[in-house]
Amino acid sequence: MPFDNSYARLPEKFFQKIIPEKVKSPELIKLNHELADELGLKLPEKQEELAAIFSGNKLLEGSEPIAQAYAGHQFGHFVPQLGDGRAVLLGEIINKAGKRYDIQLKGSGRTRFSRGGDGRSPLGPVIREYIISEAITNLGIPSSRGLAMVRSGETVFREKELPGAVFTRVASSHIRVGTFEFFASRRDNESVKILADYVINRHYPQLKEASNPYTALLEKVCEMQANLIAKWMRVGFIHGVMNTDNTSICGETIDFGPCAFMDSYDPATVFSSIDHHGRYAYGRQPKISQWNMAALAGCMLPLFHDNESKAREIGETIIDKFQNMFKKYYFSEMSRKIGIQGADEKTFEILNRILEMMDKAKADFTNTFRSLSRAINNEEIFIKQFSEPDSAEKWLIDWKMMLEEHGISEADAYETMHKANPAFIARNHLVEEAIKYATQDRDYSYANQLIEVLSTPYDDQSDKSRYADSPKPSERVYQTFCGT
Ligand code: AMP
Ligand code: MG
Repeated sequence: MPFDNSYARLPEKFFQKIIPEKVKSPELIKLNHELADELGLKLPEKQEELAAIFSGNKLLEGSEPIAQAYAGHQFGHFVPQLGDGRAVLLGEIINKAGKRYDIQLKGSGRTRFSRGGDGRSPLGPVIREYIISEAITNLGIPSSRGLAMVRSGETVFREKELPGAVFTRVASSHIRVGTFEFFASRRDNESVKILADYVINRHYPQLKEASNPYTALLEKVCEMQANLIAKWMRVGFIHGVMNTDNTSICGETIDFGPCAFMDSYDPATVFSSIDHHGRYAYGRQPKISQWNMAALAGCMLPLFHDNESKAREIGETIIDKFQNMFKKYYFSEMSRKIGIQGADEKTFEILNRILEMMDKAKADFTNTFRSLSRAINNEEIFIKQFSEPDSAEKWLIDWKMMLEEHGISEADAYETMHKANPAFIARNHLVEEAIKYATQDRDYSYANQLIEVLSTPYDDQSDKSRYADSPKPSERVYQTFCGT
């Protein structure tokens, strides 16, 4: 791998240099060939060599492994030191298109930041992260990606003995809101500035021209987050642990823990077993994102203005704009679900009406919208998603009238909807099934088939209806776990 490790050239307090702990007998479960090609990696063909590389047993030339320091607000409470407790950044590579990526191992052993943890990961969460991060990516949503999964041949102890695994993930970077908080909470303004300059150089070089690049940076991160959350909302994704340490500065989905896609629509949906008060419920994600951006703003105040109250005013003005910015992205994402690009007040009203009907009927979020794209030829399949057929029929009439008013042909509406309403999401019961067979029987076919179907989620794939069906009551998953 042609490494160029810019983060490792930052001051030492940004990380710990560390060699991943070796695992007993690594066995490659999956290599993402398509991603490896995209990154321009030239990898050996032998399974054992790949397993050695993606378990951390063999370090590639040019790799300078580090564990990154960060802090974070977890469920609203500040923790001054978190950091990579079970992850190691192997280094950065630049692909043919000139884009820089982090290559990181997760589950690669203890670091200075491990606190009470063992630095390891069970196989289950590794499979979960691989499936869901690839699903999110293929839905067209910015995300870290899965490059490889390796079984470690070791046992990890959680509530019981579980097979261990190492996950290799790729992200535009792993810099978090919590990375800023790490230095800001230590009143180390010099490091905050070094970090901000690094982020601008690496992710947003165009901001260097701005009159104040730091306020421009906050505005840009807010915009990236608003856009990201709007996209999550469009596909019914619930991150589950939107702590500031899991919030990426470059607007990608990172740190897949007890995340899940919602089956039936309900804005209050929560899956995470640790989210007792619904802080990170589906419908609360926009508010939480703004909260996280306010935490970032707090860290950057000294960069905004020498006068503290002026700096605060500047920060507040930017954060106050977040909800409107989010709304803009949200309506642009959501209106496409009903066939409209460039929405107005009337579109919002029609959109909210269908959401209310879905909430009432506990209709399947994905299948209801997908059936709407078919309602042009077959209204029945749409209407039967609802408990009150009369109001669904009424809605269809109003919707069609609205399309007409906008001068949108049914064919155009169909085109728009088809690309906004996936047929396939990583349904919890299927993810759990894939994990179960991989863990118990070393049978990876369930995971592989699911990954395959989710690689083209907007295609009909009519022979794959099992993957599109909402779960039967007996299959329904109510809780998901980080299991880390
Ligand atoms: P997460 O909730 O997965 O984003 O992790 C929060 C923090 O806990 C991070 O600092 C992780 O590095 C740390 N952590 C999670 N699991 C482990 C583990 N098994 N060993 C050490 N640290 C861990
Ligand atoms: Mg995390």
